[in-house]
Amino acid sequence: MKVTLKDIGKKYEGREEFTLRNINLEIENQDFCVILGPSGCGKTTLLRMIAGLNSITEGDLLFGDKRMNKVPSKDRDIAMVFQSYALYPHMTVYDNMAFSLSMRKERKKIIHDRVMEAAELLQIKDYLYSKPSDISGGQRQRVALGRAMVRKPAVFLMDEPLSNLDAKLREHMRVELVRLHKQLGTTSIYVTHDQTEAMTMATKIVLMNDGKIQQAGVPDEFYNKPANIFVAKFIGSPTMNIIEGTIKKGKFISDDELVVITPSVSDTEKLLAYENKKVSVGIRPERFESGGEFGDTISAKIDVVEMLGKEKILHVKLDNGRELTISTPGHYTYNENEVHSFGFDIESIHFFDTESGNRIN
Ligand code: ATP
Repeated sequence: MKVTLKDIGKKYEGREEFTLRNINLEIENQDFCVILGPSGCGKTTLLRMIAGLNSITEGDLLFGDKRMNKVPSKDRDIAMVFQSYALYPHMTVYDNMAFSLSMRKERKKIIHDRVMEAAELLQIKDYLYSKPSDISGGQRQRVALGRAMVRKPAVFLMDEPLSNLDAKLREHMRVELVRLHKQLGTTSIYVTHDQTEAMTMATKIVLMNDGKIQQAGVPDEFYNKPANIFVAKFIGSPTMNIIEGTIKKGKFISDDELVVITPSVSDTEKLLAYENKKVSVGIRPERFESGGEFGDTISAKIDVVEMLGKEKILHVKLDNGRELTISTPGHYTYNENEVHSFGFDIESIHFFDTESGNRIN
């Protein structure tokens, strides 16, 4: 089912400001759309409007061609999975999964077949007759998914469904959810503040901040072509280094004059209109290289080295104390307090208009 949001806005009663405004979005049939953003940006509000649990103040919500603004939640053909699995504690796993179909007065045979099908897919057949309190958190989360699946909804809505699981299980469930989505093909809308979940699971990411969409697109674009400084800093770990400066005679000179960058040929063209204007440069930590083989270099003293196994994160300081983060392969050796020169891949530098924060394209 295709889901379209046209100029959607939300103003809660008693609030002066709109919580969301001008939300325009097309979620294609079979998309796995992840709504990503920091706490309080309005993700849950948006999901609840799609679910029919929050009223829509302005704009249109369409499922296919049908306007859904006034359609009650129970008639929207959606199923929702929450962070707190909200299972009925006194019912068995089987009855939890069967509950919504029983309420709909489906035939017993159909209910049984659907529950068994979901249990098979989610590998929870062995504890269908256990109570939620007798199974692990990961198993409970699967039951919550199963309960949503048996309804065969047109759209799955999920609100941080993995955030109560430990890191290992979360990693495992990420892959399972992707697999499940491939098998079922149900249009899914998934809310999270976790960039890794977004980057690994989404066919489409919508990154929000302050009630507005900052960028929407495929994961790759978020890493390689962030639309503005907020997106650039939100996606990628460790966080992208941002250095403020000015374009002078085609070169980028940082405000403290410690960083000078000669842009690539294609960037030089884009920067023509920015001569003597404030520009910010973004360099991902993993784009630095030891030594000067890339031309321009930055000289920095190593302050702290974090060993993560496959990579080492260097926290370095320039002469004036400015800090930068550099990621290098784990087997390289660095000593704290040593001064090194670092080059960077000139083709992977991002330029932003400092005033607007927008990418210079
Ligand atoms: P989180 O990740 O912390 O859940 P979120 O991005 O999902 O955050 P929302 O829960 O949608 O954000 O909240 C967005 C804003 O709307 C917040 O400022 C919040 O206080 C406000 N808000 C949410 N629900 C209501 C409500 N029922 N009445 C008034 N304001 C609300």
